Amino acid sequence: MIQSRPKSVAAFNQAQQVIPGGVNSPVRALRSVGTTPLFVREAQGAYITDIDNNKYIDFCMSWGVFILGHNNPQVSQAAADAVMRGSSYGIPTEAETQLAEMVRSAVPTMERLRFVNSGTEATMSAIRVARGYTGRDILVKFEGNYHGHADHLLVAAGSAVANISNASSAGVPADFVKHTIVLPYNDTDALKKYFSANGDKVAAVIVEPVACNMGVVAPADGFLQTMRQLTEQYGALLIFDEVITGFRLSHGGAQQRFGITPDMTTVGKIVGGGFPAAAFGGREEIMQCLAPNGPVYQAGTLSGNPVAMAAGIATLTQLSAPNFYSNLEARSNEFIAKLKQIIEGKEIQLNHCGSMFTLFFNNKPVRNFQDTKQSNQERFAQYFRNMLSRGIYVSPSQFEGNFISACHTDEVLNYVLKSIEESI
Ligand SMILES: *Cc1c(COP(=O)(O)O)cnc(C)c1O
Repeated sequence: MIQSRPKSVAAFNQAQQVIPGGVNSPVRALRSVGTTPLFVREAQGAYITDIDNNKYIDFCMSWGVFILGHNNPQVSQAAADAVMRGSSYGIPTEAETQLAEMVRSAVPTMERLRFVNSGTEATMSAIRVARGYTGRDILVKFEGNYHGHADHLLVAAGSAVANISNASSAGVPADFVKHTIVLPYNDTDALKKYFSANGDKVAAVIVEPVACNMGVVAPADGFLQTMRQLTEQYGALLIFDEVITGFRLSHGGAQQRFGITPDMTTVGKIVGGGFPAAAFGGREEIMQCLAPNGPVYQAGTLSGNPVAMAAGIATLTQLSAPNFYSNLEARSNEFIAKLKQIIEGKEIQLNHCGSMFTLFFNNKPVRNFQDTKQSNQERFAQYFRNMLSRGIYVSPSQFEGNFISACHTDEVLNYVLKSIEESI
């Protein structure tokens, strides 16, 4: 049992003197689960070690980045080699083309793509392109979906925004969000109704094809299909935000898993192999709107950074191994089946898709943001702390997913199952 982390507590106090809340991203403060952060010294495979020398099984995995586990030897070596050749030039490198080709061969709907530094930039840029291409302003998003922290997307957002009272941010002028329309997730009728009245004004619909930032919520039957049909009918673009689901739910992401063809796609997290890289892309004629070919401006000093590209190439190379995803899926399914037995009859909902899952402390199924908000936050916080004391770092918010990696062996997963049984 892990009892205390005095060095982490001291480090957190010191951090708060210089960094707001002591963290560079709000959810890391662990406030909603009633504790303070551990400070990490290093991570390896499925484990992280804090500065007090406590070792934890990690289920957050840098929010899904490390599908191969922490500090994968090939990825780290490729990044280290790239650093030794210089870490940025502001001049093209062949690695950018190589990774772009790898992304496109996995996600063929990204006929042309461009690299940026974060998922936020990827969705922001994709939306600008969609507006430039269609000449329309309205963006439709779904309640509890998170697409990064650009102004016009901070409306009814998931992830750590969900912990703010109305799931929107102060500092965003109403004028900036008046073109953002929010609809409930998994509500096909609301979507039809909105489109029948306003469809010809919609530039794009952006969606997490499997919601991962209100906890994991899979799409209801027909939800994505209807979205595809309506956007096509009304000349709006469909943007799949696959920043989490890309290279996670299959080699080709959620669009491959569900057999839907979006017009544009964003990927992030996994694609940078643990370095700041993300990408947005789509049909060639749409992406040709980007400068220098077209009138939509978008740029970045560190975009296509050679260290991130090298890490991305080393990651995607391993993910294209035969059976990588079928093995991960099989192990995840076995874990989920056992977990289902453990929670049976306990007023807990288990939502899952592939190697991602969330436990909700609800007594009825969770299909949208309002349902996720019914989860008992105190029970979740207690569960988080119980797991932490058993040496397991689950994602520290009700509104996030947990991620199984290639390094979560049966032995690791069995220990986790036993701990969940004790913790709930
Ligand atoms: C994480 C995430 C983002 C934002 O990515 P950052 O790299 O944190 O800016 C956008 N969309 C989805 C679906 C995400 O999960």
